[in-house]
Amino acid sequence: MHMDYYCSAKFTDLMVHVQSRLLYNCCKAYPERVDLDWLEDNPGKLFYTNTMLKDRALMLDNKSCASCHHGCYKYEQEGLPSTRQQYNNNEKITDPHAPMKLISIVLSTDCNLTCMYCSPEYSSAWQRDVNHKGDYIINGTTVKQNNNWHILWSKMKQKSRGVNSKFFGLLLRELELARDVESISVLGGEPLLNNELDQILDRLLGVKKFSIDTGLGVNDKKLEKILEKVKGKDVSFNISAEATGKIFELIRYGVSWKDFDRRVKMIEQNGNEITFACTISNLSVLGFKDFHRKYGEKYKFNINLLSVTDYMMPHVLDDASKKRFIESTKDKSNLPEFVAIRKMIEKEPSAEDRIGAGQYLEQFSSRRSVDLGFLPSNFREWCTTNP
Ligand code: SF4
Ligand code: SF4
Repeated sequence: MHMDYYCSAKFTDLMVHVQSRLLYNCCKAYPERVDLDWLEDNPGKLFYTNTMLKDRALMLDNKSCASCHHGCYKYEQEGLPSTRQQYNNNEKITDPHAPMKLISIVLSTDCNLTCMYCSPEYSSAWQRDVNHKGDYIINGTTVKQNNNWHILWSKMKQKSRGVNSKFFGLLLRELELARDVESISVLGGEPLLNNELDQILDRLLGVKKFSIDTGLGVNDKKLEKILEKVKGKDVSFNISAEATGKIFELIRYGVSWKDFDRRVKMIEQNGNEITFACTISNLSVLGFKDFHRKYGEKYKFNINLLSVTDYMMPHVLDDASKKRFIESTKDKSNLPEFVAIRKMIEKEPSAEDRIGAGQYLEQFSSRRSVDLGFLPSNFREWCTTNP
């Protein structure tokens, strides 16, 4: 298949996973492990490892690189949307040493939630779930524990705290040296649970623009403490959510809708900017209209494409649910978030993904004793009935 392989994110974006010392150039790309000795001897080079420079050279030669195949190309080859389509790729950056613009820092996997599309690689609550209750089996394949990501992650976690703190120290140095960086995003797990967030803010608050990605799975006291620190500063909150009520509580399992809504108000009253990061899965399509009605007037929405979890992709929905979404959101069909979701649900789901959706829902809800009666019956029957 002929493709234009260029993507500007490869020249501007970096994601760093502190606990595992992994570098992702960009958030969707396959990671590489940082070489601490090399970094110590090469200050300011975090964004210019040999792998990154090689990948950028391949791209400029219009060739595929493995890390982006994993993140984007393979989806496009299957006729699905990919993350790189959200970037402006018209004007090409041609310098592999171009300055980094956006850095995202994943502090640790500490998190109280088990969001449905997430996994043990990112959330300690997910790690506990699979450790105590075993793997999830979808279409005869083990997921959520024994996939490549988790094996890689398990190896990384065994490293000592000393090594982690050495890397964190080097990372703080890199952040101070990265003068062209326009924005620092801090992610988790749940970054509001992590004391390293305080250290980053103490060093760079007021110097750089920050955004904090959160699922708001923290208690009010902890949130209040952070809000006090960032009041009046250029710090925005990227809040992960895409549905209301019981659908929210299922997708974002571990935080109640009432607590979530109250914490959104706390941030609003503190004066910090709020954007909602909506990861669109099949379940979020079912709840997105109500979520948009609640917050759409006031806040910006970023629509993220789900990847990896095939059986939760937005198009893995019954026809009646798709039709209902399209009909009930006609008046908003020109808004970019709805345009994006309409496109995402176009493709016909495979029988395997349909069955996978049912199996996953059953396993996820039974472990947590969630009664799925609030989901539309047509959807439940569609994915749980064998042909
Ligand atoms: S092609 Fe995809 S994975 Fe690669 S840098 Fe762009 S957005 Fe990231
Ligand atoms: S809040 Fe983030 S890290 Fe935690 S389970 Fe949800 S998506 Fe995963």
